[in-house]
Amino acid sequence: MVQSSVLGFPRMGVLRDLKKATEAYWADKITQEALIAEGKRLRLAHWKIQKDAGVDIIPSNDFSFYDQVLDHIQLFSAVPERYASQKLNILDEYFALARGRQKAGVDVPSMEMVKWFDSNYHYTKPSFSDSQTFALAQDAKPVREFLEAKEAGFITRPVILGPVSFLALGKTERGHSVEPISLLSKLVPVYVELLKALKAAGADSVQIDEPVLVFDLKPEVKAAFKPAYEAISALGSAAPQVTIATYFGDIVHNIDVVPAFAGLNALHVDLVRNPEQLETVIKALGPNQTLSLGVVDGRNIWKNDFQKSLAIIDSAAQALGKDRIVIATSSSLLHVPHTLASEKKLPEEVYQWFSFAVEKVKEVATLAKAATEGSESVKAELEANAVAQKSRADSKRTNNPEVKERLSKITPDLYNRKSAFETRYAKQRTHLSLPLFPTTTIGSFPQTSEIRIQRNKFTKGEITEEEYDAFIRSEIDYAIKIQDELGLDVYVHGEPERNDMVQYFGERLEGYVFTTHAWVQSYGSRCVRPPIIVGDISRPAPMTVKESKYAASVSKKPMKGMLTGPITCLRWSFPRNDVHQSVQAMQLALALRDEVVDLEKNGIYVIQVDEPALREGLPLRSGKEREAYLDWAVNSFKLSTAGVEDSTQIHSHFCYSEFQDFFHAIAALDADVLSIENSRSDAKLLKVFIDEAYPRHIGPGVYDIHTSRIPPEEEIKQRISEMLQYLRPEQLWVNPDCGLKTRTWEQVKPALANLVSAAKYFREQQ
Ligand code: GLN
Ligand code: ZN
Repeated sequence: MVQSSVLGFPRMGVLRDLKKATEAYWADKITQEALIAEGKRLRLAHWKIQKDAGVDIIPSNDFSFYDQVLDHIQLFSAVPERYASQKLNILDEYFALARGRQKAGVDVPSMEMVKWFDSNYHYTKPSFSDSQTFALAQDAKPVREFLEAKEAGFITRPVILGPVSFLALGKTERGHSVEPISLLSKLVPVYVELLKALKAAGADSVQIDEPVLVFDLKPEVKAAFKPAYEAISALGSAAPQVTIATYFGDIVHNIDVVPAFAGLNALHVDLVRNPEQLETVIKALGPNQTLSLGVVDGRNIWKNDFQKSLAIIDSAAQALGKDRIVIATSSSLLHVPHTLASEKKLPEEVYQWFSFAVEKVKEVATLAKAATEGSESVKAELEANAVAQKSRADSKRTNNPEVKERLSKITPDLYNRKSAFETRYAKQRTHLSLPLFPTTTIGSFPQTSEIRIQRNKFTKGEITEEEYDAFIRSEIDYAIKIQDELGLDVYVHGEPERNDMVQYFGERLEGYVFTTHAWVQSYGSRCVRPPIIVGDISRPAPMTVKESKYAASVSKKPMKGMLTGPITCLRWSFPRNDVHQSVQAMQLALALRDEVVDLEKNGIYVIQVDEPALREGLPLRSGKEREAYLDWAVNSFKLSTAGVEDSTQIHSHFCYSEFQDFFHAIAALDADVLSIENSRSDAKLLKVFIDEAYPRHIGPGVYDIHTSRIPPEEEIKQRISEMLQYLRPEQLWVNPDCGLKTRTWEQVKPALANLVSAAKYFREQQ
């Protein structure tokens, strides 16, 4: 029998129940016991969904209160001393690691959080010290959750992050020098202990994720697989059977690692992303090993094309025999929303094109049934599936001749500004009369509950458009009053009208559809509801001019217009999988170009086009594919911004400061000002800007907006002096790391006041 398998299930629940519970706990509104109970309720519900769908291999330990990598940091007692020394209870220590803690005399910032591969999920980066030790935590979470499932009648396969990936995805503590991967021999015994404990608890199999196998690996990381998995294989029947899971790429370039898994049961590969790796992987497998075929997309919402999947399954079955294949999701389903059944407002035509997590687990089961019993056994499902595929291919939405025509007429001159930066800046300086160390913010101000209430009322038709607009204007007025009081130099309108930086635009563009409940976890309790690109994209009308124009009209200082760039619109949406992403990016760029020009026409002379998703779109491996991506990504940004006069200042924003790998692309964007995250990163990362003689302006963040902690003025000054080691004073802007929507005004006001005083201090020194 061909088994079906799911690599992980989303944690939030149908109505983002987990978000609500965790946030209530943080706000002291529910007890820790209540939060724990809610976690349990969700785990049981999610196991039941999978069991009812007929999935054979159901994951456990895929649940997390914040992030699965963070779970492993505690599981292996790899909590840095500054947190461990606080002697908090386990869950509070966990949240302190995740979000920092400023309470009852304790003041620790959060651990660094970074993107999970090329997704919009974020994980907490393990951080290792020179005297690092590891030990298995008491009451180990994978064992506890396995037992919990078992007690409820679910036989699950625990998911753990493998030792090589855990170390390779980590970093060295500030002030230490240990190479994370050199800690392997200390870490492996803890895995051995964990695997034995799982076996003793009754687990027959485990899924060990080693996703770093899709990267280009340093030799020492690559070499670590052999000793790690020899030690695990040596356990024989003292450990559960092991499936090594890889996803988000191919492993062909690391295929020589596969023999290190010779003593293990199975290997999982992502055949949605890289179906072409199948042949190579099959050849590398040992004679008795099983291959888990990741054919149901864990990263996108399209209904599986059964015909296509069955062709892949068939060729694998022919090579290996049916008893050596498993049908699986390509990755964890963490990256897709919970269920399509919650969507009541989707156009009927497109509804049938989608599958979310609940629907995908059924697809996996159906495909496994077809593989076991033949396609006749699922005839009705196959027919319905073929109808849906055809409806999409033939739809008007996916074939807009006007958009295609405009796209075909793009010429290279549309990518370039009129003059070089020096000429532009001279004009901008007089036009905007900016001081040294100009202060600004990244766009959004607190999204208060009042804003959400009014937006909800408007969406439900309980207030009129005029009433809603008046409310938005009053919010803008307030944001401007605060900026006046604070003495900022370049203002923003605060984005009160925006539910989300991509969704907002998606709702105003043709070619998109949006959902009501399709949330996916971004970090911790934060979820995003990506719109879906279903067809060719165009802009029926201006999208942001009304609010920006109003804001400019009531403001004494330059008002910064705020747009989301083409790559971010693409990456933070569910993209089409029927046309290349570069085509979608260029369609978006043309729509945004019109918006940029319209803003300028309406008196907005500073325009920020956010591209935080540029880096996560980078193909995971360097080389040709990466260069090709950067080429079209940069061109789409330039196409969207280059339509303005020299005296109009183009800003862009990135939520990180690690540009080393693709600095040439950042420079090629030719943005007049870049604001970037830096408060939680090393100021040394800014060195690349002098090394490469970067001429344009940069605002590295001095305020970590991810936590409620208020940065003291002295700390900000300290950061600015560090930055001045790498940047020229006339190049430096002073701003927070990112938008302030998740903060409260009580936090934002003092934090920005400190920021402005710190900037003034340096201004006076010059
Ligand atoms: N302008 C956006 C904001 O301030 C930028 C958000 C982001 O970079 N993620 O909210
Ligand atoms: Zn940001």
